Amino acid sequence: AFQADVVPQAPEDPLFGLMAAYRRDTDPNKVDLGIGAYRDDNAKPWVLPVVKSADEILRNDPNLNHEYLPIAGLAEFTTSSQKLILGADSPAIKEKRITSLQTISGTGAVHLGALFLSKFYRPNAQRTVYFSDPTWPNHFQIFSNVHLQYLTYPYFSKKTRGLDFEGMINTIQNAAEGSIILLHACAHNPTGVDPTQEQWKEICKVMQAKNHFPFFDCAYQGFASGDLAKDAWAVRYFVEQGFELCIAQSYAKNFGLYGERAGCFHFVTSPASDAEATVGRLASQLAILQRSEISNPPAYGARIASLVLNDKGLFAEWEANLKTMSGRIIDMRKALRSKLEEMGTPGTWNHITDQIGMFSFTGLTEKQVLKLREDSHVYMTKNGRISMAGLNTHNIDYFATAVDKAVR
Ligand code: PLP
Repeated sequence: AFQADVVPQAPEDPLFGLMAAYRRDTDPNKVDLGIGAYRDDNAKPWVLPVVKSADEILRNDPNLNHEYLPIAGLAEFTTSSQKLILGADSPAIKEKRITSLQTISGTGAVHLGALFLSKFYRPNAQRTVYFSDPTWPNHFQIFSNVHLQYLTYPYFSKKTRGLDFEGMINTIQNAAEGSIILLHACAHNPTGVDPTQEQWKEICKVMQAKNHFPFFDCAYQGFASGDLAKDAWAVRYFVEQGFELCIAQSYAKNFGLYGERAGCFHFVTSPASDAEATVGRLASQLAILQRSEISNPPAYGARIASLVLNDKGLFAEWEANLKTMSGRIIDMRKALRSKLEEMGTPGTWNHITDQIGMFSFTGLTEKQVLKLREDSHVYMTKNGRISMAGLNTHNIDYFATAVDKAVR
């Protein structure tokens, strides 16, 4: 018999626990800075106007049905996803060196990649995947579920609240040859700290010398700087340097399609390979993994994204929507920094505007975070991370004052 009593209680997911505590709080001034989802200036979820337009078109399409998608997903979606992340004139696209599958958003793409690597990456050798310290906590679970062992590379410097570049590069340099290095393509979660282009070039050089395998997790393209090409720069650079690599791409944040689970997994083979044959073999194995896990991916979100990605007018509207979201977040960064500096809040606050994307690693200690929750009903993760999208013109003064109080 199944012995249910041997199943131990799992710890609560810290983020979802935080959300529940926020919902229970009845204080009218409460502020939610936990969840990584965009909110408008009234702290409400924002349906992108371009998504509304696409939705309208889809709903009025007399040919729309609810049939299964192919195993690898909607072809218009996966090919336009390649162009979006790699650039339409990417050598890898021209040389047909990519195989892509539509996935259950970014999480599903990371999982499919991890599963594929666990099965086929240097099967007879020691394999280790390296994550940044810190990283999106789900990376640990996803890779350990497929029995890949992991280590971390230093990433965040507590002293500068910026990148610990030296620590990062040294660890990558000293990692066993052929390690898998997981890299956040842009808008690093949870720190908001990204390498500069010069630093990416150095990372690339060391990884090439050590024959490491890059795994790019790209959950925030266009959401970070507001510029799609700029946010994809690192991935495109690695591809130009001839790397064989994989990419997990999410449309949750940049389309606001959180619940629709639209994402894509890409495997880019090296220029040296016999591209067609290699891609064919990889695709055949990925299709089997996909089939056994989800059979075929969900259609609706991919249809919305695909419609926008393949229509010039809608695409331009999407870019404008991205600017609205990233611009509001950048404004909040500026406002928060200047309010803290105006009040003379102890510490330095330049990191708030130096960091980019959805999150900021404030440098607040766990004790200060708990004090903020108890005294001011402000909810953020214990590591001091705040979701910038939770701040708006109505609560920014309240939040800055609360931080000031907690720090003194
Ligand atoms: N990777 C990173 C670094 C993330 O921050 C997220 C979302 O928070 C994801 C992947 C995956 O998100 P989703 O599965 O909603 O696309």
